[in-house]
Amino acid sequence: QPVLGILGGGQLARMLALAAAPLGVRTRVVDSAADACAGQVAALTVADWTDKDALARFAEAVDVVTFDFENVPAETAQWLADRVAVFPNPQALAVAQDRLAEKTLFRDCGLATPAYAAVDTRRGLDFALEVIGTPAILKTRRLGYDGKGQFRLRTAADADAAWAVLGAAAAQHGLILEAFVPFDGELSVLAVRGRDGDLRTWPLTRNWHHQGVLSLSLAPARADDALKAQAGALARTLAERLDYVGVFALELFLKDGQLLGNEMAPRVHNSGHWTIEGALTSQFENHVRSVLGLPLGDTAARGPALMFNWIGALPDPAPVLRTSDAHWHDYGKAPREGRKVGHATVCAADAATLAARVDALAGALGRQAQAAPALAELARW
Ligand code: ATP
Ligand code: MG
Ligand code: MG
Repeated sequence: QPVLGILGGGQLARMLALAAAPLGVRTRVVDSAADACAGQVAALTVADWTDKDALARFAEAVDVVTFDFENVPAETAQWLADRVAVFPNPQALAVAQDRLAEKTLFRDCGLATPAYAAVDTRRGLDFALEVIGTPAILKTRRLGYDGKGQFRLRTAADADAAWAVLGAAAAQHGLILEAFVPFDGELSVLAVRGRDGDLRTWPLTRNWHHQGVLSLSLAPARADDALKAQAGALARTLAERLDYVGVFALELFLKDGQLLGNEMAPRVHNSGHWTIEGALTSQFENHVRSVLGLPLGDTAARGPALMFNWIGALPDPAPVLRTSDAHWHDYGKAPREGRKVGHATVCAADAATLAARVDALAGALGRQAQAAPALAELARW
């Protein structure tokens, strides 16, 4: 039986392990936390990224290594790649870890981005604000996730407040100032590329964030064919440029019919969780298949699907369990403010049935406010 090694033992690793099992693939994860939630379903090595002895033993115990966490130091990824097959390759990981390198690549690939400028000093922030204008978002170039490491500036007068929060990170990793885009919507392209270069995309996904954290994903997104084709072509260009193997997500803003690149995630992605029940092959199964060099599965949607993210704490599962074609996912993590602890996906054969199920479920859960943007979108279908 092949053994899949995963760096990071969070819910993404857990869902990868669950998808790997029926393929006859065993999973071993590395995480610095002894209670990493993937450890409930996979073998766990407790070690941090600098523990070369533990990582060497891990590399010997697995056939191929992949990531649940994109912020594994690129140096660690390269060190492992010298010993065992690592997918995606460490260079692709390095680009996706750095918002500046990532946006530069987007533009090289013909994907427009919000206006941006690198910021390394307080003086540099003033200069960037003159060029970019306001409103704007100051972000750490590295290590940010779920909206962490970001400061929104309404006017240039917010520069001191932004610096008080992010000045220390500027010295360590650098910052990037981005124009704030008053977008019409957020979309993501989920794609997978095999070791043989076979590339497939799932139907485009529409996403809604709340306070910088993903709240809802609806798929397939309603968009015209030209836009869908453009999104798919951009994902292909990026993947081929990086010689990427595995699943990745490209996060996009839609503004006045134009696509703007926000960021890419070099791994399975929260906006693709709906594929577990909503697509012929899930992002997790196809990621396992791709990194092991197996044929990829069909990425078509079975029908419309809506995913709710559970942030901080889980709601009562019973209303979800009582809903037809609704699927409960508890990550087995301790509740904590702002933490992703689970999700639920509601599927249906058509949009009207999906809307009725989501409406009833949101009412039963007291989550009408969370569901509202997706219900408004479904009403337009
Ligand atoms: P993730 O959890 O997706 O990795 P992250 O911390 O890397 O998140 P971003 O994707 O950069 O952060 O930002 C989170 C959300 O904040 C975006 O999905 C979007 O809703 C909003 N946002 C980020 N940048 C901009 C921008 N330039 N203009 C408007 N909204 C933005
Ligand atoms: Mg991110
Ligand atoms: Mg993001």
